[in-house]
Amino acid sequence: MADKMLTDHERRKQISVRGIAQVENVANIKTTFNRHLHFTLIKDRNVATPRDYYFALANTVRDHLVSRWIRTQQHYYETDPKRVYYLSLEFYMGRTLSNTMMNLGIQATVDEALYQLGLDIEELQEIEEDAGLGNGGLGRLAACFVDSMATLGIPACGYGLRYEYGIFKQLIRDGWQVEEPDDWLRFGNPWEKARPEYMIPVNFGGRVIKENNKSKWVDTQVVFAMPYDTPVPGYRNNVVNSLRLWSAKAENHFHLKFFNDGDYIQAVMDRNLSENITRVLYPNDNFFEGKELRLKQQYFLVAATLQDIIRRFKANKYGNRESIRVDFKTFPDKVAMQLNDTHPSIAIPEMMRLLVDIEELDWDTAWDISVKTFAYTNHTLLPEALERWPVHLMESLLPRHLEIIYLINLNLLNEVKARYPDDLDRMRRMSIVEEHGQKCINMAHMCIYGSHAINGVAALHSDLLQKHTFKDFFEMWPEKFQNKTNGITPRRWLLLSNPSLADLICDKIGEGWVTKLDELAELKTLANDQTFLDALTRVKRENKLRVAQYLKEEYNVDVNPNSIFDLQVKRIHEYKRQLLNCLHVITLYNRMKRDPNAKIVPRTVLVGGKAAPGYHMAKQIIKLITSVASVVNDDPIVGDRLKVIYLENYRVSMAEKIIPAADLSEQISTAGTEASGTGNMKFMLNGALTIGTLDGANVEMIEEMGKENFFLFGMTVEEVHKLENNGYNAQSFISKNSDLALCIDQIENGYFSPDQPDLFKDVAGVLRHHDRFLLCADYESYIKCQDEVSKTYMDSNKWAKMCLMNIASSGKFSSDRTIADYAKDIWGVEPSEEKLNAPYEPVEADHQRKGAKPS
Ligand SMILES: *Cc1c(COP(=O)(O)O)cnc(C)c1O
Repeated sequence: MADKMLTDHERRKQISVRGIAQVENVANIKTTFNRHLHFTLIKDRNVATPRDYYFALANTVRDHLVSRWIRTQQHYYETDPKRVYYLSLEFYMGRTLSNTMMNLGIQATVDEALYQLGLDIEELQEIEEDAGLGNGGLGRLAACFVDSMATLGIPACGYGLRYEYGIFKQLIRDGWQVEEPDDWLRFGNPWEKARPEYMIPVNFGGRVIKENNKSKWVDTQVVFAMPYDTPVPGYRNNVVNSLRLWSAKAENHFHLKFFNDGDYIQAVMDRNLSENITRVLYPNDNFFEGKELRLKQQYFLVAATLQDIIRRFKANKYGNRESIRVDFKTFPDKVAMQLNDTHPSIAIPEMMRLLVDIEELDWDTAWDISVKTFAYTNHTLLPEALERWPVHLMESLLPRHLEIIYLINLNLLNEVKARYPDDLDRMRRMSIVEEHGQKCINMAHMCIYGSHAINGVAALHSDLLQKHTFKDFFEMWPEKFQNKTNGITPRRWLLLSNPSLADLICDKIGEGWVTKLDELAELKTLANDQTFLDALTRVKRENKLRVAQYLKEEYNVDVNPNSIFDLQVKRIHEYKRQLLNCLHVITLYNRMKRDPNAKIVPRTVLVGGKAAPGYHMAKQIIKLITSVASVVNDDPIVGDRLKVIYLENYRVSMAEKIIPAADLSEQISTAGTEASGTGNMKFMLNGALTIGTLDGANVEMIEEMGKENFFLFGMTVEEVHKLENNGYNAQSFISKNSDLALCIDQIENGYFSPDQPDLFKDVAGVLRHHDRFLLCADYESYIKCQDEVSKTYMDSNKWAKMCLMNIASSGKFSSDRTIADYAKDIWGVEPSEEKLNAPYEPVEADHQRKGAKPS
């Protein structure tokens, strides 16, 4: 390694930190840190572990948030703006410490303080567990959105579940995925504040009775929802919004009958049963599994959240005067609720139940309020991911909601009938209640009818929703349908994760891009600035060297830093086509075997991602990739020209580490299957080039950068549809291409699993006979395109210019832009550039104010 490696502290001092540590503040941080070590952790320097130091540091940083947090919530209470509520079963937040220091602008000061204390801040940061309360893109999107909402000063709050176990920890054992529970709260969570005083009851089961024309839901079982609040700081604007996560707590007077019967032990044990609701995140990505506990989770989130929102609406409007009759007609002027997919869609019948049964509004008024309040984001076109709850589950768990859904459906079908008389087939297609086979509730249909806005997450995806998946609904209500192309937060995904690149960019165009990512376009003028291109290349090389060192430590593989770092990291799914990537690796390997002296541009292929534990084929694909890796990495003929590594336990914190080192980003889903993708955007922002299909947001990335800066291959959506309509036959593509035929033969005959020659028969069978995602049809185009990638990589100047064009064209993909669009087109709220006043305001005696006001 020719490059001189700086010590971590030197590197961090050189880069990343605008603003100099102030001596005075450094001293304060040291004092607070020691105070927390002493009084909060009750340790001294002789017995403190690195984990104690992490917690002392987390508490120190948290102290800097609290006045801003209280001030922000006070400000909202006093000005009573329209509020945005983001409802999601997933918030994939990752780590909080470094993000908080960055947003508060205290990174340099804290760095210096810890250096003076002789502590390694990077080591402490590594101790923090990821908050892995999400599966993949959908959950990470929710996390990027709360960041952007705070940075744009939008009065918003995220609502979700505090799973005791987040997404499982993935181990790779003998090449197979093994799952371990993610016990992320084991050592405590310094970022959350429990609020037991605001517990809310949630009902399940029971039955519905009619009393003088009114419905009552009775004989229910009650579970309490305990809120835990996490601060969400905006970027240097003194705004701190909240993420409120609910945890299930058993009712206090639980099973009095048992107490009276004397079975005290059994009564206490049964408390665990209801607390199971928030025990664990369901690990499926893009797949619907109709489990009762999952429906309980969904309703638990929704019931607690709506009560909380209505309580806040009433308190804001009327103070705590219980007796006053509330005017709910203004509710949509004060509240917008965004449903992150259909997962929280039971909110629609719950809202109707609260307004009609509890608040005693008439149905039509209630429906009008509800529709104006809700908006629904669709996240997938895959039919197996669409939620269709069996009626019998709804009936036993939520009998009143099922009645309400039937009433909603009656109105929907009446509207359809009025507009399209005698079109019975259309009524059947559009019905919320599906009668063919097992009777089910189609949650997407309910969301479309019950929301004023429906959006897809990339232009192509929104277009396909209108033309295919929800065609009938689009014909009736075209004005409801919108597009909101996804985005990522440039704070976490560039400023924090790639400080050397961030610094280089700041040197040229200042730091406005951090909140106005479009300003990156100014870099385009440097496309012929050799010094700048060289600097870009140098930054990428440093990032690669750091990852190479990490790969040596973690996997004991020597990777060639001059090779193309070729990354595919995302959930393992057949539609994402990790298997196509694997076919390319095998093809390269076969070329070397055929001609040991073949000129091959060196590659390091990194694949990472979790498979849903019940997804057999996804797990087979992991085993195939690890098996190919064993053969390739151990073959002396290959040398350092090709290495394959399976990255264990891919998660947010790993994404932050490795994406800055990528040369090539694999975004190779079958056209028309990936709704948007956000991984694609992270790579583009970090100066990787993309090999990809015309799918999801790739289409818009190409629009922004020009197709000359993208490695495009494969069929278009139209070509896919045509091929499918004409009857696709994989065999016709296999027999035309001897390289593909060889790859499949090798997989089938145990070339990569000599001890178990039959191991991958299923995988080969899918390729030959059930190639639903058309890998064989796209293989040839993919391989040709990969050869083009290799050729281009040899022209390092051309490659560097393409990198520059990628970075400079990524402005559109900031989640700030996405959120500004939601605010304007769906929520009817205004972003605020205004900085809230800095703290601190002392508490004054105020005898006019009575009682604690929940925020
Ligand atoms: C961004 C991200 C994803 C989404 O990646 P896609 O390639 O869009 O599927 C998944 N997992 C993690 C940890 C991420 O950070």
